[in-house]
Amino acid sequence: MPELPEVETVRRGLESLIIGKIVKAEVHDTKKGFPNAPNDVNAFLIGASIVAVRRRAKVLLIDLSSDYSLVIHLKMTGQLVFVGKTRFGAGHPNDSLINSLPDKSTRVKLTFDDNSKLFFNDQRKFGWVKLMPTVEIQNIDFMKKVGPEPLEADFTKEQFKERFTRRARTNIKAAILDQTVVAGVGNIYADESLWGAKIHPKRLVASITNNEFDQLYTELREVMNLAIEKGGSSNHTYINAEGKRGSYMDFARVFRREGLACPRHPDVIIEKLRVAGRGTHICPVCQVE
Ligand SMILES: [Zn+2]
Repeated sequence: MPELPEVETVRRGLESLIIGKIVKAEVHDTKKGFPNAPNDVNAFLIGASIVAVRRRAKVLLIDLSSDYSLVIHLKMTGQLVFVGKTRFGAGHPNDSLINSLPDKSTRVKLTFDDNSKLFFNDQRKFGWVKLMPTVEIQNIDFMKKVGPEPLEADFTKEQFKERFTRRARTNIKAAILDQTVVAGVGNIYADESLWGAKIHPKRLVASITNNEFDQLYTELREVMNLAIEKGGSSNHTYINAEGKRGSYMDFARVFRREGLACPRHPDVIIEKLRVAGRGTHICPVCQVE
């Protein structure tokens, strides 16, 4: 599953490439991959131009001039490939990124008026592309529940701390992974930011001090911004707009580094635990339970 930085990498790549008017939509998986009425497709997708490419949490939103939007969830193996004057693939890295398309994983193919194309491929078919009125996106159940965007400029330390009060009796790792607390944080950036803030992932939210919340806020934003800068995490098998594998994992301090030394403590080995049902990486000296 991609995390916020991976989807943001996809968004930034698409934003500069998909411009123009959609003239054709070919769909190979109507039930799950593209559950939209043909009448809506003809009325609101065909002939519409791209107005904006947005992201909310891990969901990609392509706004159209018809006041409809394409809502896209890549899930486990979704992938978007643009073929025009330049070609790039973003998402699950398999041969479909470089093969001639469509191939057997192609679910949706959009053709633009300059004959460039956008392919939505998805081997395991968990992902989807939904066409809906732009104003209705805010009414999707997930959108009503999802927490604030942690990288927004106006998201403050005070708001961050306040979001956790709803999960006071759970451990901090479970709380930070809860999408209703903050949006888009998954396993990699949870472990990296907790190590950065020197907080043990099993500690109860109620035990975290104001100073520790401040540290966690700063660390979370730093690791996510760094990951976007580096094009997402290659360990999650996402590649960026230029077709390069993301390199955040080259900078990871604890994630999937069990058995290696803590960057702060050359003599201490990073351990792997299970917290909140997830593989969790800690330094037993930096992070005390
Ligand atoms: Zn350490």
